Amino acid sequence: TQSTRPQRLLAAVQKNATRGDPRSVVLAIDQFCRQKEWAMNVGDEKGCILDSVVSEVNPGAVLELGTYCGYSAVRIACLLPPHGKIITLEFNPDNAAIARQVIAWAGLEEKIQLVVGASGDWIPKIKEQFGVKTFDLVFLDHWKDRYLPDTKLMEECGLLREGSILLADNVICPGTPDYLEYIRNSPRYKSQYFKSHLEYTKVEDGLEKSVFLG
Ligand code: SAM
Ligand code: MG
Repeated sequence: TQSTRPQRLLAAVQKNATRGDPRSVVLAIDQFCRQKEWAMNVGDEKGCILDSVVSEVNPGAVLELGTYCGYSAVRIACLLPPHGKIITLEFNPDNAAIARQVIAWAGLEEKIQLVVGASGDWIPKIKEQFGVKTFDLVFLDHWKDRYLPDTKLMEECGLLREGSILLADNVICPGTPDYLEYIRNSPRYKSQYFKSHLEYTKVEDGLEKSVFLG
């Protein structure tokens, strides 16, 4: 039977990364995607921007929308302060099963809570289910037409506080025009674009970092 791309990505991690060493997991995935098969991880170039935002915010509570194979969750988790946690949502159970193994290989099960389900179903339940008050940082990287409705849902559900940071991937490619229009024009946010390239390519893409003003 034929393997899937996430399965081949996991095999590359298990072959080339050291158990318990998150940086080696990230490196093995980037190497696989540059040398073998493109995959939709935030990637090494935008990953450096992600790292610098995580380091600057030093968040205790992070929400990620869209786990895929766990690449960005691992990247984020290893930069969190000792008490810091990330909840990551993934609605495709096959991707979630791979992510669980990638996260375990990195030794980050304690810091990463992987939740299988759709963002629109989980966002309203997160407070009661996980006892979080608000998120310090939200990384939006799921399907692009969900960025705007899920942002409004997070606002409604009180998951954002004054100073919470939204970091949105792929705002140029594939693009999230309705989200950008909203976040750049709403008086409730102060927003900034970080120019970069689509993962593992030379095509322009970037991250939008937006501070919730309350
Ligand atoms: N953040 C990951 C990284 O950089 O390593 C990549 C995430 S990938 C671009 C998007 C993922 O979001 C896919 O695995 C897809 O199944 C998932 N997804 C899309 N829409 C979703 C939704 N509404 N709720 C939960 N997961 C979703
Ligand atoms: Mg992305």
